[in-house]
Amino acid sequence: MNDLSSDKISFTNLIDDVVDQNRCVACGACDAVCPVNVIKLDNFVPTLTGDCIECGICYNNCPRTDFDDQTLEESIHGRTRNEGERLTGVYSEVYAAKAIPSDIQERAQDGGVVTALVSQFLDEGGDAVIVAGLDEERPWLPKPVVARARKEVVQAAGTKYTPSPTLLGLKKAVKEDKLEKVAVVGTPCQMRGLTRLTIGPMKNVKYRDAVDLKVGLFCMETFSHDSFIEYLGENDVDPANVTKFEIKKGRFYAHAGEERLHRARLKKVKGLIRSCCDQCEDFASEYADISVGNVASPPGYSTVLVRTERGKQALESAIKSGLIEAGPIEDFEKGETLVHKLAEMKKSSH
Ligand SMILES: Cc1cc2nc3c(=O)[nH]c(=O)nc-3n(C[C@H](O)[C@H](O)[C@H](O)COP(=O)(O)OP(=O)(O)OC[C@H]3O[C@@H](n4cnc5c(N)ncnc54)[C@H](O)[C@@H]3O)c2cc1C
Ligand code: SF4
Ligand code: SF4
Ligand code: SF4
Repeated sequence: MNDLSSDKISFTNLIDDVVDQNRCVACGACDAVCPVNVIKLDNFVPTLTGDCIECGICYNNCPRTDFDDQTLEESIHGRTRNEGERLTGVYSEVYAAKAIPSDIQERAQDGGVVTALVSQFLDEGGDAVIVAGLDEERPWLPKPVVARARKEVVQAAGTKYTPSPTLLGLKKAVKEDKLEKVAVVGTPCQMRGLTRLTIGPMKNVKYRDAVDLKVGLFCMETFSHDSFIEYLGENDVDPANVTKFEIKKGRFYAHAGEERLHRARLKKVKGLIRSCCDQCEDFASEYADISVGNVASPPGYSTVLVRTERGKQALESAIKSGLIEAGPIEDFEKGETLVHKLAEMKKSSH
């Protein structure tokens, strides 16, 4: 990794240390922060489109360069994680929860908590939420959407197992649309990029001021989109017919409504996983205000880790509005749930 204290840092350093090392997650942070706007993601790969002024801002906001966990945890929580939080990151409360509105339940991946939380955010005066929608032309190609209305966040519910460059959506919302109060939904790597660009040493004040809520997802892996589509074709699955993909209990599923189109052991799809995910140690979106996944809760429920005061307030207000119901997860503190097991797998693979 580059010695940040000496030479000027340029786009070349980002390519050398991140892209060429197969570490780039395609979050879009570098594009979103470049002050002279010379980075574009070309088919998920950062590319230089003009003259780099060697300011180092892209490098310092990338989630895959030296990420200073301790300093960032100190600035978010006033403390670093304790031994019981080694695998999960700092949190204050944990729940099994689900959304109550039927339109959210119908489209959601699990308990619909993410969609209910961001729907409440819009109801309370938030300008927009950055979510992962789908391209109109290419089936199951995710794209960041700046959703300003409840129906748009409901439309974007459900898990896409290939990457969406979420922070390009943030760039559009804040730099182009000039929105002042936004929420962002994303994977752990995206939450890390977002954290750097809102509170890191080379943060961007526009993003710092505009980002009001960070909703993180649990994440074990994402697939490369091209390989994923190829795999579906080889298994006679037309992606255009799929309404939901799912990974649960070691199996990968494709559904069309109530019909199951495809089922495979997870090891059969392991070859589709992006190489950057092999180098990832964050399962539970450790830098979000509130993190949501499915493991450790019953079917139809989401596991919710409340991390910050802002996350707590977002959950409480969604419960108060009748959008979410939440109950305890027994014995989470013992550290023996699937959340802990999967997080351990990620951390110990390095
Ligand atoms: C790539 C990926 C891998 C995951 N792996 C696991 C896992 O191993 N274990 C586990 O417990 N949970 C995992 N999750 C989380 C899980 O699939 C659900 O997202 C979570 O339980 C929330 O469910 P929900 O019903 O509350 O969400 P919903 O209400 O359905 O909302 C989901 C939100 O996530 C956004 N989103 C979907 N796909 C992406 C994407 N690729 N990038 C950014 N945002 C996206 C949607 O736009 C929507 O806003 C994963 C999620 C993703 C995206
Ligand atoms: S952010 Fe700075 S270092 Fe990175 S490409 Fe733009 S000008 Fe170059
Ligand atoms: S900021 Fe994101 S898109 Fe840019 S190089 Fe780093 S990981 Fe890749
Ligand atoms: S496994 Fe890690 S790097 Fe891969 S998409 Fe999930 S959070 Fe990002």
